[in-house]
Amino acid sequence: MLQEQEGYAAELERTFIAIKPDGVQRGLISEIISRFERKGFKLVAVKIVIPSKDFAEKHYHDLKERPFFNELCDFLSSGPVLAMVWEGEGAIKYGRKLIGATDPQKSEPGTIRGDLAVVVGRNIIHGSDGPETAKDEINLWFKPEELVNYTHNAEKWLYGDN
Ligand code: GDP
Ligand code: MG
Repeated sequence: MLQEQEGYAAELERTFIAIKPDGVQRGLISEIISRFERKGFKLVAVKIVIPSKDFAEKHYHDLKERPFFNELCDFLSSGPVLAMVWEGEGAIKYGRKLIGATDPQKSEPGTIRGDLAVVVGRNIIHGSDGPETAKDEINLWFKPEELVNYTHNAEKWLYGDN
């Protein structure tokens, strides 16, 4: 999406980020939101929900052939999930960098999973892995009217004037 306001232009894309039940129960909501916020990404939607098993299966439909699929969907639907949409230039790819590798044993220190998680089955956070999945996941978790369009005061300082 090309957004042009007050003389600057930035390619602002949106990604779906969710703090899974382990991250919520471990009290890591503010820590995780803070990392996305300090980077310069803009929160455009947020809610806390306990997804049904059926909903979890829809979210992870790409993984239905994997041996851990059932356990994974049971886990996602086992408690509150903080669902969010973050916006910014490169938000999909860089969001994945902030999150770190799927297996926290392989995530670099400095990443969310590297710093805050230990095993793959409890890796505390989900992030869309590409533009198509971002679009699908945002549509699955949010109604269009739940996404808030606004210009953040910091945008001209983050992206410059041209
Ligand atoms: P992600 O995009 O980095 O979250 O990774 P994937 O899309 O490949 O997998 C989705 C989620 O399934 C991961 O975040 C893990 O929680 C879980 N997962 C992936 N691989 C394994 C595995 O080998 N064993 C178990 N128990 N869970 C896994
Ligand atoms: Mg994935």
